[in-house]
Amino acid sequence: MSPPSLLQATAPATHTAPTALSYELFPPKNAVAEATLWATIRELESTNPDYVSVTYGANGSNRDTAVELLNRLLTETSLLPLAHLTCVGNTADELAGIISELLDHGVRGILALRGDLPQDAAAQPRTGSLPHAQDLIELIRRVEQRRSALLCAGKVAIGVAAYPAQHPESPSVEHDVEVLLAKQRSGADFAITQVFFHADQYKDLVTRARRAGVSIPIIPGVMPFTSLRRVRRLGELTGVAPSDSLLDALGRADDAADSRRIGVAATVGLARAALDAGAPGIHLYTFNEHAAALEVLDKLQLLRPGRPAVASRSSAGKPPRLVTA
Ligand code: FAD
Repeated sequence: MSPPSLLQATAPATHTAPTALSYELFPPKNAVAEATLWATIRELESTNPDYVSVTYGANGSNRDTAVELLNRLLTETSLLPLAHLTCVGNTADELAGIISELLDHGVRGILALRGDLPQDAAAQPRTGSLPHAQDLIELIRRVEQRRSALLCAGKVAIGVAAYPAQHPESPSVEHDVEVLLAKQRSGADFAITQVFFHADQYKDLVTRARRAGVSIPIIPGVMPFTSLRRVRRLGELTGVAPSDSLLDALGRADDAADSRRIGVAATVGLARAALDAGAPGIHLYTFNEHAAALEVLDKLQLLRPGRPAVASRSSAGKPPRLVTA
């Protein structure tokens, strides 16, 4: 596949800012998945994203594989990782340990999340675990404070989740914005949204958030809607209802290729509308597959910084590549 079209930003900094670009990956569960993931990572690396995020299981269920992936990204690629971290089910002491470990490895970006509550009512989070993402942000800032002399070349960037469609446990969209404002006040630097299916949901969230005093960037999280099965599953997992028109269109697809064409077009339309509404970047949920993500990227033609790409750490000695338009 040819590399996606990325327009280099040549305008002075006072003009249009380049668009931020990031991808979400998840730690592999076995050797086959690991090989697929690394093929994906190499493809994504060639697009010179600003960071790649690595998911983390609620309760720290995949802590070791997540830390290993973060470590390999830091040591073997040119990519800057953003580590997801969930607090549900873990005490402040346990979480302080993992935060310190991440910082020791060189991670400088953490997406502070609560994590999904166990489905089983009998398996409620144990006493003493941090109840909200806001508590985790404050803990990260305390750990950072204790290590401030080690972080003189750059502090920790903390991201949080935001919800264009109401969070399933929230009483209202207004409450969601109050929670986002509280997370900002506790030290969040930016937010990435949950998936959404209507551009107005993103626009309305940003409008409500700005009115309430939220000033941090709110980056739309967008996934390639390449199959009906995946879109339905995503709706179940996130509690966000997929749009009927997308379900209809995917349902009428002739075959997998047609389904993918329809899905990519829908994703591009959604991302384009969010960018037109002022979104500062795009975060692509990749599901560890690069092809559809790169197709979306190609069609979006994002204005990207014209910086030289850093040579992959695994290719030390080779001259740095320049991002091509
Ligand atoms: P919180 O901000 O704590 O909110 C949870 C609920 O509590 C909300 O209903 C909120 O309204 C309410 N609430 C929050 N603070 C307060 C307060 N002070 N008082 C009263 N109510 C409050 N899950 C994973 O397990 N692993 C991942 O890697 C992961 N990555 C994600 C990445 C993104 C970009 C997004 C959007 C979500 C991700 N999730 C992940 C899912 C996330 O964990 C769930 O959506 C979870 O249900 C809520 O997480 P949160 O950080 O928004 O929690």
